[in-house]
Amino acid sequence: MAIDLVTRRDWGARAPRGSYTQLASTRGVKVHYTGGLVNPGIVDDHNGCVSLVQSIQRGHQDGNGWLDIGYSFVACPHRKVFEGRGLHHLPAANGPGLNSGHYAVLGLVGNAGLVEPPDGVLHAILDAVEYVRERGDAGLEIKGHRDGYATDCPGEPLYAWVRAGAPRPGGDGGGDDPGDDDPGNGEGGGGPEAPPFPGRLLRYPPVTRGEDVRTWQRQMKARGWDLDVDGAYGAQSRDVCRRFQRQQGVADDGVVGPVTWRLAWEAPLS
Ligand SMILES: [Zn+2]
Ligand SMILES: [Zn+2]
Repeated sequence: MAIDLVTRRDWGARAPRGSYTQLASTRGVKVHYTGGLVNPGIVDDHNGCVSLVQSIQRGHQDGNGWLDIGYSFVACPHRKVFEGRGLHHLPAANGPGLNSGHYAVLGLVGNAGLVEPPDGVLHAILDAVEYVRERGDAGLEIKGHRDGYATDCPGEPLYAWVRAGAPRPGGDGGGDDPGDDDPGNGEGGGGPEAPPFPGRLLRYPPVTRGEDVRTWQRQMKARGWDLDVDGAYGAQSRDVCRRFQRQQGVADDGVVGPVTWRLAWEAPLS
């Protein structure tokens, strides 16, 4: 699927307040989140995405004194990619000294409200990644803002997804980064191999629902845990997850991230 680009004219961007610094090439992309509250209502209302992007631009221009929105592109839940500073222009969001290394791509999630990235956001981020590789001379790196800079950005769910190799949702083959050296593949070999991490955290509350939850539950039941295979990750799944994490000697946060996911298949049965 080609990129579904929302041009600056489409989203009513203000003009930049000066000229961009040109950027010949980058090593890849850094992924960001808003760091604030994102109204979950935008999932059902693309106009809400437009308003949010406009307000981010106003904040960056009027609050930060930047010449434009700090991001190269913005990915929304509707698998649309807003043009920020765009191709071959230095972004401002990666942090001092770090902007020329990577394009900056914002996923429209925050640390409150809409926290878990919908599949549309993940797809749109990857559409932007492919676009800057093809048209913007970007390299293959996909990193988080926090890589090399002291920040929580892009938040735990998006960062876990980045660390898992930024797979396409829906399991159509996963990330296409040939440099992928996911440390999760370091097991001895010959053992069972986990299916690709779904790219979002399974957690409760609120209840996480989906086929990925069902897949994990089925596997845990096959390992002998007592839980319902109903595709809904609630208190029961969380409690099983915690006990499993303690058994495996990893942090018992009750959240199925990339490590806990992999262990469900690859940890030896005790
Ligand atoms: Zn950031
Ligand atoms: Zn949208």
